[in-house]
Formats: sequence, structure tokens, C-alpha cells
Amino acid sequence: MTDTNDWARLLRRVRACAACELPLGPRPILSATPTARLLITSQAPGRRAHEAGRTFADASGDRLRAWLGLPPELFYDSTRIAIIPMGLCYPGTQEDGGDFLPEARCSQTWHAPLFAHLTQVRLTLLVGRLAQLRYLPDPRGSMSEAVAHWRDYLPTHVPLPHPSWRTLGWARRNPWFEAEMLPELRARIADILK
Ligand code: SF4
Repeated sequence: MTDTNDWARLLRRVRACAACELPLGPRPILSATPTARLLITSQAPGRRAHEAGRTFADASGDRLRAWLGLPPELFYDSTRIAIIPMGLCYPGTQEDGGDFLPEARCSQTWHAPLFAHLTQVRLTLLVGRLAQLRYLPDPRGSMSEAVAHWRDYLPTHVPLPHPSWRTLGWARRNPWFEAEMLPELRARIADILK
């Protein structure tokens, strides 16, 4: 069982982190408490999440919540669901409209101490290739291959595409994702959270 004082101290340290030079400055965003049973490890907050101070506060979040069958009040219930991205701060946006990759030092610095408190987690969703490369037991192949073979990583991990608008075309080309994988994943998540 995790020590709540240790957890609170750790969260204060994370939220005070200013290790990186970032276009809009540091604003670490995560949602977690040690009782969480589902962990979502994504890429990094986008600009709207940065402005709102809340992870997935954008259209990508709406899409992810729809994929997982999670209403916002449950998605943001940190006692049940932890959301800890690979980069905790908004990394800035490139000219092509995509965000920069998050600072590698962020997950290297904070994930191990944070995850050490999440002892109740039964399933980790790896949203996007960066999280998959870091945490899938065997991350060979492409994002698409990893997601297509998602059952191979059960019962501990499930790889998912990033839920940005760029994924819409991919989902159309891979109809099994919405027709087969998501209903099964929703049932699995509902069972974990009940
Ligand atoms: S991205 Fe991570 S390491 Fe960098 S300032 Fe934010 S919390 Fe700190």
C-alpha cells in the first residue's frame, strides 16, 4: 500500500518541475491517484489541454473517451483511472500542425516514481507509438501491427493509436478496430472498473 504523504510529496515535486524549456512554459498535467486500476499512458498534452490544465481536454479526448466507452466524469476520476503521458507538458506545435515529441527526460525522470505508487493498475493503455515503444514487452513492427496484434499483449497492456484526427483514415482502412477491438476493449475496461 502506498504512503499518501509520499504520493502527495511526489505530486508536488512533479507539478513544480521546470526542467525543460518549452514554448508556453512548463505546466505538468496528469491525473492519477494510487487507487487507479486503469492507466492511460499517452504522448503529451496538446495546446488546449495545456490551456485548460486538464489532459485530453480536446477533440482527441472526445474520440478517446468514445473509443473506451468512458463518460468524462469517469475518465477524469483519478481514483479509478490514471492518465500519465510520456511528456507531462505541452511540447509546442510544428509548422505542419502536429505537436513536437515530448522531452524524453520527462518519462525518464517521473514515470518510475509515479508508477511505483500505482500498485492497483490492472491494465495499461499505450496510446500512440511513443508509449508503445517504451512499454510494450515486444514493440517490433509498426503502430498498426501492434494494434492489430493487441491480444498478444494482454492481460497487462493494450496498444492504441493516438486518437487525433489523423487516425480517422487509419480507422477507415482498418474496420476491425471499431467493429471488433473496441467493443471487446470496452467490456474489459468496464469489468476492471466495476
Ligand atoms: S516536460 Fe516533464 S521534465 Fe519537462 S518541465 Fe514538464 S514535467 Fe518537467
